[in-house]
Amino acid sequence: MITSKLPNVGTTIFTTMSQLAAETGALNLSQGFPDFNGPQALLDAVGKHVANGHNQYSPMTGLPALRQQVAAKIARSYGATVSPDSEVTITPGATAAIFCAIQAVIRNGDEVIVFDPSYDSYEPSVELAGGRCVHVQLSLEGFALDFEKLKAALSPRTRMIILNTPHNPTGALISGAELDQLAELIRDRDIYLVSDEVYEHLVFDGVAHASVLAHEELYQRAFVVSSFGKTYHVTGWKTGYVVAPSALTAELRKVHQYVNFCGVTPLQYALADFMAEHPQHVEALPAFYQAKRDLFCDLLAPSRFSFTRVAGTYFQLVDYSQIRPDLDDVAMSLWMTREHGVATIPVSVFYQSPPQGQRLVRLCFAKREETLQQAAEKLCVI
Ligand code: PMP
Ligand code: GLN
Repeated sequence: MITSKLPNVGTTIFTTMSQLAAETGALNLSQGFPDFNGPQALLDAVGKHVANGHNQYSPMTGLPALRQQVAAKIARSYGATVSPDSEVTITPGATAAIFCAIQAVIRNGDEVIVFDPSYDSYEPSVELAGGRCVHVQLSLEGFALDFEKLKAALSPRTRMIILNTPHNPTGALISGAELDQLAELIRDRDIYLVSDEVYEHLVFDGVAHASVLAHEELYQRAFVVSSFGKTYHVTGWKTGYVVAPSALTAELRKVHQYVNFCGVTPLQYALADFMAEHPQHVEALPAFYQAKRDLFCDLLAPSRFSFTRVAGTYFQLVDYSQIRPDLDDVAMSLWMTREHGVATIPVSVFYQSPPQGQRLVRLCFAKREETLQQAAEKLCVI
């Protein structure tokens, strides 16, 4: 008998629901990924670099040209200066970046605060480092940070807080004022941050993303994580990065070099070329995804689902209390997939203690117009 190191971990909900969607032929609005291609110039660049022989290991820290593009994007987006050499590390996806950041600083017995509903990779990564997650719930209305609850959760063992903004699965944002409040709360404590900002460029209604990269005080203790997968519509490329002050980056790289060694070489070349040639791509993303959000929400308006348009990410939460209040959200997701042909993600799986009576499922709107129309037709007759 194997004594599992992760006894409470099963198969991730994303795999479960995508598999069920494939088996049943349902439209897959569950796992988050676009059903359209990334920019043609980016795709072409990969082929070019593969053909040109860029197929061996890249430098452990990431291709210098790509690290420079990341630093340039950060300067343009947030007015922050980071060193491409000592503060930026390219990783095979944001998941690996988060894992390495946690392993780099979390020791046996350390506590890590996560905000529920929280992305599912955080807790297993903390447990493998010997730490323990302390779950603090976001407010039920609006999914905002609750500073009273956060304060109560802090202990002498708290070694890290994991932020996620824009937030998966709720689409909520952390504001600059909230970052200030957080800075004040942890000022005299020995606490690191992981700031998971993979949806940094998917922020709507003219609001600016408040990045920890732009917060001088918090950045000093932070690992800020992003993913090219979300920004360039290529989730399957699993290429991401971590930005952290040099001393933290040095520790992160000690782990990264033995977990990953490096990212995928031709993809890094292609991303570096594309970012250099199309720096405006990220500036167009909010409008691009806001149009999808608004189309989808307009199409859903006549349905019996109720919702508030999300502030960020490519996920829309919908409340189904008017439809099947008798079903919990896991049962609802299965029923919607099997009986109504739309696969969704239940929100309760992201909670340690799901709020009683919450009736929410998450729908991914990173889809072509025709997919959103087909999905809405099905959702409007439930
Ligand atoms: N964090 C969050 C909040 C995510 O939604 C995702 C998307 N899968 C990731 C991390 C992981 O990103 P990647 O696919 O680059 O590993
Ligand atoms: N982040 C994606 C989501 O939330 C899924 C990524 C994965 O499958 N691990 O749907």
